[in-house]
Amino acid sequence: MAKKKPNKVYDLIIIGGGPAAVTAGIYAARKKLDLILLTQKFGGDQLAYTSSINNYPGIKNISSGAEFVSLLREQAKEYKLDIIEGETVAKLSKKGDNFLVKTKKDKEYESRSVIVASGKTPRKLGVPGGEDFESKGVSYCSICDAPLFQDKDVVVVGGGNAGLDSARDLAKYANKIYVLEFGPRIIGDMATQEELKKRGKVEFIVMAQAKEIKGDKFVKALLYEDRNTKEKKELKIQGVFVNVGNVTSTDFIKGFLELNPVKEIIINHKTNQTSIEGVFAAGDCTDVSFKQIIIACGEGAKAALSVNKYLTQNK
Ligand SMILES: Cc1cc2nc3c(=O)[nH]c(=O)nc-3n(C[C@H](O)[C@H](O)[C@H](O)COP(=O)(O)OP(=O)(O)OC[C@H]3O[C@@H](n4cnc5c(N)ncnc54)[C@H](O)[C@@H]3O)c2cc1C
Repeated sequence: MAKKKPNKVYDLIIIGGGPAAVTAGIYAARKKLDLILLTQKFGGDQLAYTSSINNYPGIKNISSGAEFVSLLREQAKEYKLDIIEGETVAKLSKKGDNFLVKTKKDKEYESRSVIVASGKTPRKLGVPGGEDFESKGVSYCSICDAPLFQDKDVVVVGGGNAGLDSARDLAKYANKIYVLEFGPRIIGDMATQEELKKRGKVEFIVMAQAKEIKGDKFVKALLYEDRNTKEKKELKIQGVFVNVGNVTSTDFIKGFLELNPVKEIIINHKTNQTSIEGVFAAGDCTDVSFKQIIIACGEGAKAALSVNKYLTQNK
């Protein structure tokens, strides 16, 4: 029987293709590490849903997440990063002193260190129109998109703290904000609820299940069911902010790395080291405070510099 060819052993495998992963790649390339970046989708879902980015220092206006992704791609090319796209990592495990990364296409890659930067994906509403109107009035990020709804009527779906934070961001711009909650009461912070009530333009609707988003080129209405009466009701709005949670993309490392209750990778915040020596993590898939591009980039840089130190010390 023919012997299986041994895998090439890289210095570093980066899992992900968002801001954290690409920044880690750039920093690692500058340290001359032999690396590959494996990603399901270059840029990721979150940037794909972003309409514009106005809070990244040094670049005044980025008209869309897609534009930011093409800037990342250009810079990655300059550093000759070896990016393997369309590869979803299925499992990460130890192989002797090294790490073995298996993908859904049944490929195997081996390395001396790993950076996990697999991010998050916003949980979708799962109603007709929900995905069709993404970037056409449906948003998952009020920090980013609230200013686009100046004097408009909007609905926030989700009455938890994230939903209330969205309503607070929107209250600076929008004319009227409905907060739709599936359960019998708004579950977000009482203090924020009181603050929003005082503003006068926020209306809370409980026992309400979003059923459909309607529109033509842009969103025009949201249809919901009153769960008490089963009556269908329609809100005429121009924006829908979905705050029904995020899904952290960490299923492939469950049982290998230590996760917190919301499935974020627990890291040492100084070094980005995870619970396994040699495996580092960065960005939205970790328990870092606040999920923003600039933070993901900073964390990616920290992780790569820590990897370099780790590899130098463990030659
Ligand atoms: C609608 C919206 C608008 C936003 N607007 C802004 C804004 O204006 N400003 C701002 O600062 N932040 C904004 N954010 C937040 C910002 O997008 C995130 O903080 C940032 O993208 C996190 O970067 P990341 O690299 O950690 O993860 P992500 O961007 O989520 O990237 C994760 C990467 O990992 C890949 N991946 C996932 N699982 C696997 C796997 N198993 N195998 C291989 N690859 C995998 C994905 O394909 C993707 O490439 C917004 C978020 C949303 C949802």
